[in-house]
Amino acid sequence: MKMRVYELAEELKIPAKELIGFLNEEGIKVKNHMSTLDKDTIELIKEVIDAEKEKKVKEKKKQLKVIEINKLPNLKELSSQLKVSLSEIIQKIIQFETISSIDKEVPVNILKNIAKEYGYKIELSDKLKSKSSLQKKDKTINLIVKPPVVTVIGHVDHGKTTLLDTIRKTDVTKGEVGGITQRIGAYQINIDHKKIVFIDTPGHEAFTTMRARGVKATDIAVLVVAADDGVMPQTVEAINHAKAANVPIIVAINKIDKANANVEKVKKGLSKYDLVPEEWGGETLMVEVSALQNKGIEKLLETISLQAEMLDLKANPDIPAKGLIIETKLDKKRGIIASVLIQDGSLKIGDYFIAGLSYGKIRNLVDDKGKSIKKAGPSTPVEIIGFCKMPQAGDYFQIVPDDKLVKIIISEREDEGRSKIIVKPSLSLDNLFLEMKEGKIDKLNIILKTDTQGSLDALQEAIKKIKIENEEVKIDIIHAGVGNITETDVMLASASKAITIGFNIRPDTNVQKIAKSEKVDIRLYKIIYDLIDEIKSALKGYLKPKIEEYICGQVEVREVFKIPKIGTIAGSYVLNGKISNNDKIRVIRDGKLIYEGKVSSLKRFKEDVKEVNTGFECGIGIEKFNDIKLKDILEFYTFREIKDKKII
Ligand code: GDP
Repeated sequence: MKMRVYELAEELKIPAKELIGFLNEEGIKVKNHMSTLDKDTIELIKEVIDAEKEKKVKEKKKQLKVIEINKLPNLKELSSQLKVSLSEIIQKIIQFETISSIDKEVPVNILKNIAKEYGYKIELSDKLKSKSSLQKKDKTINLIVKPPVVTVIGHVDHGKTTLLDTIRKTDVTKGEVGGITQRIGAYQINIDHKKIVFIDTPGHEAFTTMRARGVKATDIAVLVVAADDGVMPQTVEAINHAKAANVPIIVAINKIDKANANVEKVKKGLSKYDLVPEEWGGETLMVEVSALQNKGIEKLLETISLQAEMLDLKANPDIPAKGLIIETKLDKKRGIIASVLIQDGSLKIGDYFIAGLSYGKIRNLVDDKGKSIKKAGPSTPVEIIGFCKMPQAGDYFQIVPDDKLVKIIISEREDEGRSKIIVKPSLSLDNLFLEMKEGKIDKLNIILKTDTQGSLDALQEAIKKIKIENEEVKIDIIHAGVGNITETDVMLASASKAITIGFNIRPDTNVQKIAKSEKVDIRLYKIIYDLIDEIKSALKGYLKPKIEEYICGQVEVREVFKIPKIGTIAGSYVLNGKISNNDKIRVIRDGKLIYEGKVSSLKRFKEDVKEVNTGFECGIGIEKFNDIKLKDILEFYTFREIKDKKII
């Protein structure tokens, strides 16, 4: 009996991603949730997962601290019992149900769930136990299938915008609306009663930026590759971004109407990046289309629906909505308008909400067809009017029960000085070993950018070798390319907790600034050996500070004194910098290095001094060297830790 990964994941009631992780740990290579598993593998993995589940339950039981209660706490009491802020408790609870006030008691099932998240086990008194069993009976969770959210990605000019336009038009002409559409950042289409949501802005940058904020906005990526052009650098970048985000890729081979279209070449090109079509034994769904001539579009939409079914996306329409701000604008008449993509739950006119540091009450709701609506459910893009101030695209949007709670959350957020819920952790090569030891990360993600294809190949090879030598750690080059480090690279690094490595290149100041604010570690190298050595050291936990020579100052010899028993003293003038008796010294004559050694004496007049500044005269003695000549340049230098190699 054979099974696909997603089928087995369904049976085992675990996410397919987790199952793939288990398979990889057992040394069974699978590409994605469509991969086929044989009987032996299925049995083996079932055993592994059972054992793992048992272990987890035991560990959890062991770790949970017990809180005994004989009265259900209200929100304030719960926040002090669990030692977390009221705002955090509110945000947790509104994921489950609508709260009418902060004085309301928290239902037992929700109480237990939240307490568990913070490492506590709630034990109820007998009286409360009976109350809880009553509550359980009348509360059933109503999960519904959620339409997938699709982002169209690919190289410039391969037809992403045309494809999005064609899909939108096809749907509209079929529907009753009659061609009037609104651009609100995303749109929903209907095919055979199945819905699909398309993000209106094509490109992988947006979803990586969202991911860097800790939000997953895309369920499926459609990679557009022009059949007359083939796989191009941004195609590769898009593939790597989608892979890093763990988003399944469907390939739309576009422009097949063109005389010079070469579908086979595209497929061959994609195979190099592990996207192999089914007819070649691979598992990547590929559809040939012409976005311009509206050919193959229905097939593409069916394929997206099929892929969505396999992902088994579910949402609960009965909970207060959570979502993302995808676009904002200021309308002269209507004021602040923001488009929200609802990820879970529902919202309606009159609901209170928060989004970053903005908040408000929904005054008007408009869908992507320009129609005023009263309520909206999961995966619906809607335009909302009612914001008190402009939110930011990428902000997390949440319905909150009343304005009292809105104020509590906003004031806490303002106090904390942050508009995002998620605080992003950072990774640098310096703390890599510690993070691995503490189990915070289990692999080193690398983004590699180089000056030439030759150096890129050489470095990839060298990093592969480290992987072989250090089997216990996983190293993954999530993106590699020729060219300078870009803002997109930094966002990918931020989203994927990756180290960015540049070889023989130097990122511009804007990119450096973004890296700093995103806490992304950029490492720049000129020598392959240095790069490899540092990665190895970081993995072993002893990354030595890199030392460089620093020129402290230069002096010119203007007089030479021969002093019996002491030796030659150079009567000198400090041309630049500041020299010190602790520095090392080198003698340069006519541009050539004559000698390198230590300072034996440094005097001003007859006094020994530690330092002499630019523009002053001094007498200098050099250890074991007396052959000083007029006009010699004495260079004072020292060694210090490189500060600018690491940008943050
Ligand atoms: P984007 O940069 O990926 O968004 O690409 P666009 O959608 O702007 O398309 C770039 C160019 O390719 C435009 O001139 C389109 O008209 C053209 N184009 C897009 N799809 C097709 C197609 O299926 N066939 C042909 N012949 N041209 C197309």
